[in-house]
Amino acid sequence: MASTLTDRLSRLVKTMRGQARITESNVQDMLREVRMALLEADVALPVVRDFIQRVKDKALGQEVAGSLNPGQALVGIVHKELAATMGAGVADLDLATQPPAVILMAGLQGAGKTTTTAKLAKLLIEKRKKKVLTVSADVYRPAAIQQLKTVTGQAGAEWFASTPEQQPQDIARAALDHARRHHFDVLLVDTAGRLAIDEALMAEIRALHAAVHPVETLLVVDAMQGQDAVNTAKAFKEALPLTGIVLTKLDGDARGGAALSVRQVTGAPIKFAGVSEKIDGLEVFDAERHAGRVLGMGDIVALVEEVQKGVDLASAQRLADKVKSGGFDLNDFRDQISQMKKMGGLSGLLDKLPNQIAQRAQGADMDRAERDVRRMEGIICAMTPLERRKPELIKASRKRRIAAGAGVQVQEVNRLLNQFEQMQGMMKKMKGGGLMKMMKRMGG
Ligand code: GDP
Repeated sequence: MASTLTDRLSRLVKTMRGQARITESNVQDMLREVRMALLEADVALPVVRDFIQRVKDKALGQEVAGSLNPGQALVGIVHKELAATMGAGVADLDLATQPPAVILMAGLQGAGKTTTTAKLAKLLIEKRKKKVLTVSADVYRPAAIQQLKTVTGQAGAEWFASTPEQQPQDIARAALDHARRHHFDVLLVDTAGRLAIDEALMAEIRALHAAVHPVETLLVVDAMQGQDAVNTAKAFKEALPLTGIVLTKLDGDARGGAALSVRQVTGAPIKFAGVSEKIDGLEVFDAERHAGRVLGMGDIVALVEEVQKGVDLASAQRLADKVKSGGFDLNDFRDQISQMKKMGGLSGLLDKLPNQIAQRAQGADMDRAERDVRRMEGIICAMTPLERRKPELIKASRKRRIAAGAGVQVQEVNRLLNQFEQMQGMMKKMKGGGLMKMMKRMGG
C-alpha cells in the first residue's frame, strides 16, 4: 500500500510551517495529495473531482485553529467531508411495515449477494429478534439456490425452496405468501446476478421488485471492484429505487474508496459492510470510521472494539469474585497474561492503530513487550501449585529455584512478584472493574 494521505500531507506540511491560514497557494499542493490518495483508494475520477471542489470551497480562507497547521486542518476538513459524503451517522434498515418486510438483494454475480443475504438473516435474528425467511430467485444457477440453502441453515433462518423451472416473480410471490401465512417478520429475496450489467437482468429485477414491493432494495457492491463500482451502481440505480448499499469485501486490499463513489452516484446510504467470508462478517456501516480508513488514519474505533472483545467477560466476573474473597493468586495473574495474548498479541493490534502511532510502537518496543509476557509466563510455570496459590511463601531459596527453572535471573522473579503485588493491590481497589486499564499498564 502506498503511503497514506496523512503521511503525504505531513511531509508537505513541514514546508509550510508558520502559515496561519489555508490559502489558494498552499492549498493547491495539498489538494493534489488528497486527490492522489482518493484515486489510490479507488474512488472514481468524476467523484474525486467533485469532492476536491467541495473541500476547496470549505477550506479556502479558513483560519487554522490553535496548534494545527494548514495541512492538519485540511486533513480534518477532508475527513469530515468524506464522512458526510458517505452518509452521516448510521443508516438503519427500515422494517417498519406490516410484516413480512421484504428485502430485495441486487448486484452483480460474485458481489456477495448470497453470502450477505445469510449474514443479514443472522444479524436480524440475533440483534433484532426477527423470524427470517430467505428465498433465491436465481433460476439460472441451481448451485446458487443450494448455496443459499446452506448458508441460510448456518444463519439459523428458514429457507424457501425454489427451482430453476420457475419464473423469478412466481418464486418471490410464493415465498411472500408463505412468509405471510407463517408469520415471518422478514423475507430476504436473493436474486440472479450477471457478470456484467445487461438489459435482460435489469428487466428481470424490475419485475421482481414490482411483484413483491420490497421495503428495502439493497445493492450489494464488491469494494474490490474499485472504479467499476460506479458503473454498476449507476446501472442499478437507473433500474431500481435503491434504499441502501451493502459494501462487501472491505476486509480485502481495497481501500474502500468505492464507498464514496457508490454513495455519490446512487444517493443511497451505505447500510452495511461485509468484512469477512464468515457468516458473522457483516457490520453496520459507520461512515466516520470508514472515512478514517480511506484516509489511512487507522481505525481506532475498531481497535477499541477488538480489545473489548478479547476480554472474556465471564472470566472477568470470576476474577472479580475472587478479588472480593481475597483469593487472587498467581494462577489468576497468569490467566491475565494469557488474556492479553488472546487479544491477538500486542503486535497484532498494531495495524489498527493510526499510522504514526503504530510506527512509533513498532519494532523493538513491541518485541520486547511480547518477550516480557512470555518470560513472565515461564516464571509462573516454574513455580509449584502451592507457590502460585500462596506467593507469600516465595522467599530467597524458592526464588533461586524458580529463577533457575525458568532460566532467568532472581531479579526477574522479584520483579514479577512486585508486579503481582501491585496488581493485587489495584484489583482490590477496583473490585474487578477496570481490567482493561490494568492490562494496558502491563502491556505498555
Ligand atoms: P453472489 O454471486 O453475489 O451471490 O456472491 P457470493 O455470495 O456467492 O460471494 C462471492 C464470493 O465472495 C464468495 O467466495 C464469498 O465467500 C465472498 N464474499 C462475500 N462477501 C465477502 C466479504 O465481505 N469478505 C470476503 N472476504 N469475502 C466475501
